[in-house]
Amino acid sequence: MLVELNNATKKLCVIGDPVLHSKSPLIQNTMLQALGLDYIYLCQPVKVGEAEHWLACAKLAGYAGFNATMPHKEDLFPLMDELDEDARLYGSVNTVVLREGRALGYNTDGVGFHQALLHAGADPKGRRVVLLGSGGAAKAVALKLAQQGAASVTICNRTLEKARALCARAPEVLSPAGFDIDTLRAQAARADLLVNCTSLGMTGGMGQFDDLSFLEALPRETPVCDLIYAPLETALLARARELGHPTLNGLNMLLYQAIFALEHFTGTSINAPAMAARLAPLLNTPPETVPLDRTNGAPRPLKWCMVTAAMVH
Ligand code: NAP
Repeated sequence: MLVELNNATKKLCVIGDPVLHSKSPLIQNTMLQALGLDYIYLCQPVKVGEAEHWLACAKLAGYAGFNATMPHKEDLFPLMDELDEDARLYGSVNTVVLREGRALGYNTDGVGFHQALLHAGADPKGRRVVLLGSGGAAKAVALKLAQQGAASVTICNRTLEKARALCARAPEVLSPAGFDIDTLRAQAARADLLVNCTSLGMTGGMGQFDDLSFLEALPRETPVCDLIYAPLETALLARARELGHPTLNGLNMLLYQAIFALEHFTGTSINAPAMAARLAPLLNTPPETVPLDRTNGAPRPLKWCMVTAAMVH
């Protein structure tokens, strides 16, 4: 994509390690362009343990803010001058606004998930939720579900200790369970929302569910949500759809959390459903390519996160 710059263009970025696969620059630059805002959003690798160093660099370099992904979200938490309610709830920060030398920390993961659910007509209020996984994403999702009035959230995780530790954060709503097929089947039988927060089924990930038969125990019409957005339909979602359940992938969560982050960065109010609808096709298509590198004649693919700058005088 072509991004116009001038000497006063404000800088934003995403930090992480690894981060070069991130779709945030594509999403954010597309939104900035659509809204006519004079910002550029870059991709900045920052090694584990270097969040504090990066924060000082970003202030010095005059960044307007940045997003953070693995492994920096929790390291940034104690470095913030102010924190929003969700960042405090999760103990982690995914959006940092830099203003007048101060760092304001937000976390838009949970609200992104919740808005995506509402958008799909699956308000979690009063529902008995079965949540698979206990990693970073599960933490934001589970605590947001508890905050938004889910009747109960059973957290099934391979490493039971991690599920127990997460449940201790809101024991009145969250309860831990194992990840064996008998437990999954028993839990599914009394669920009225099932959310996969494990990385099972992710493109390029470490594995797939060995056995999806627990889906057969779900009551009719129980929505099944997968946080994964690549592929757009995981094996879990495909099976749930075959069984007649409404399904929701992680694409809108990804888009909504990015939209809310941009609102914080720029102070601009964005029509989130309209913007998400505009962005979604971007992530359904393979990366663009450019024909030839002028310097050596070798083909050079244009990656998702690469931005071509056109200087404007
Ligand atoms: P994470 O912190 O690494 O957690 C991974 C979770 O998956 C853990 O609960 C882990 O269980 C479980 N798991 C991994 N391999 C497993 C296996 N073979 N069998 C059973 N459980 C297994 O990852 P994360 O950051 O939470 O992300 C989880 C997924 O959510 C990823 O696919 C990510 O792409 C997606 N995500 C989507 C969005 C979005 O905006 N849509 C946002 C964040 C994350 P153990 O605890 O036992 O290791």
